[in-house]
Amino acid sequence: LFSAELPVTHGLTNMALEAEAKRMIADFEYSTEDVNKGVKEFIREMQEGLEKEGATLSQIPTYVTSVPNGTEKGVYLAVDLGGTNFRVCSITLHGNQSFSLQQSKVAVPRSLMEAKTAHDLFHFLAQQIEAFLKTHHEDHFEKHRNDPVEQEFFDLGFTFSFPVNQIGINKGKLMRWTKGFDIPEAIGMDVCELLQKEIDALKLPVRVAALVNDTVGTLMARSYTSPGKTKTLIGAIFGTGTNGAYVEKLDRVKKMKAVDEAGGGTNYDKSTGLMVINSEWGSFDNGLKVLPNTQFDIDLDRESVNPGIQMFEKRVSGMFLGEILRRALLSLHQHPDAGVALFRDVTSHDNDIRSTTTVAEDSALFQQWGIDTSFLSIVEEDQSDHLRITKQTLEKELNIGAASTEDCVAVKMLVHAIGKRAARLSAVALAGVIISTNKLQEDEIVDVGVDGSLVEYYPGFEEYIREAFREIEGIGEDEKRIRIGLAKDGSGLGAALIALVAHDSAVAL
Ligand code: BGC
Ligand code: MG
Repeated sequence: LFSAELPVTHGLTNMALEAEAKRMIADFEYSTEDVNKGVKEFIREMQEGLEKEGATLSQIPTYVTSVPNGTEKGVYLAVDLGGTNFRVCSITLHGNQSFSLQQSKVAVPRSLMEAKTAHDLFHFLAQQIEAFLKTHHEDHFEKHRNDPVEQEFFDLGFTFSFPVNQIGINKGKLMRWTKGFDIPEAIGMDVCELLQKEIDALKLPVRVAALVNDTVGTLMARSYTSPGKTKTLIGAIFGTGTNGAYVEKLDRVKKMKAVDEAGGGTNYDKSTGLMVINSEWGSFDNGLKVLPNTQFDIDLDRESVNPGIQMFEKRVSGMFLGEILRRALLSLHQHPDAGVALFRDVTSHDNDIRSTTTVAEDSALFQQWGIDTSFLSIVEEDQSDHLRITKQTLEKELNIGAASTEDCVAVKMLVHAIGKRAARLSAVALAGVIISTNKLQEDEIVDVGVDGSLVEYYPGFEEYIREAFREIEGIGEDEKRIRIGLAKDGSGLGAALIALVAHDSAVAL
């Protein structure tokens, strides 16, 4: 019936496909009005979180009451668990805003992310620390084996990038898992204790001195290295997950009163009048009062391991953007009108239009979490003729046979819409913190340290954030006075800095 001589038509199809893609991306638009509504709600939830336990924005006190100034010195260990990789590093602080660092990195096996017991995961982490010490600090390690009493311990900063109810500088109970981790047994357990137990079982000369969220580490790292006298206000991650920590005035942290009264408040220094707060903004607006909500967002959430929570994160961070895109592309591919559908060879004969799929059966298009954020970054960046790079990437990563230019155009439109929405939502969180702390009024420059694959690699991410800043009441033109700087892999350095500060105040585990 449809022989090879029949021409593949695009004149009709591409316009229909483009129109359909346009209709779809309209749902991802996040207007000036939406942004401003978002900021107001964000500020309200920040306030609520400072006042009481159990609010949507957890606003977790970190017991960190000062930020470094670049003169700190010493050798510290740091480990980082929080997303795709587990990192172990030792950091030498030189005391003149500079440092050197040795590190090793392993991918966390998928099976351990959903391990049966907490022991399985934490034993693995301790083994990585052992291997690192053997490679990089053999001397120290051997001395300790021979004389465990005399030998000095390393202070270790533990970057654990999940919501933890922190009850001391090196004590904290896991509240919930995020980013695809799911080990139910660990919930409610003290994660420092879990790690220390496995370290001790291997007889390593290491003391878990501080528990650190990656955003807090980023804030510390940026403070240590940031130019000039400006104090950094926010450390934020836009990577696999998203979150921010910031410097808050202690008297606004109303719920610390209850902690103090219960006797837990003696182990931190109140003299600075400040405390770093881990906002856990990934859970902003779990009630969906102001967040945008397309059919793809709804479906993604329903089929995730944690439906109903981390609703902001599910619209902003790298782990989820690829999945939103995948769902959008799949729905275009399965469009009932053959003339509209994506990734199809279309043939028409008289008025009869038929199409055959160009997507391989084992394509990542059909697999949950199949599309990585790096895919979005590549497509967003592509300026080549006929979107050649997008075409190659679709063919290579999604196993799509001969993607047409029209396919590529539709894919690029969707990528752009999803990425831009994420950046504008990110602006809501940053602006919420900047406005509620009154920093634009108090300081000439407001400094923000950021890290994560999205800010680092998604082209224009910061510019879209800035564009949204200019539309926000309370920022507008002052957007120019907000400085955003990359604190790449800052959490290692940051954890070391907190281990240093914690040295005296840490409780023995
Ligand atoms: C976690 C945060 C973390 C963020 C970035 C979120 O899923 O809840 O604790 O800071 O990811 O890694
Ligand atoms: Mg990280």
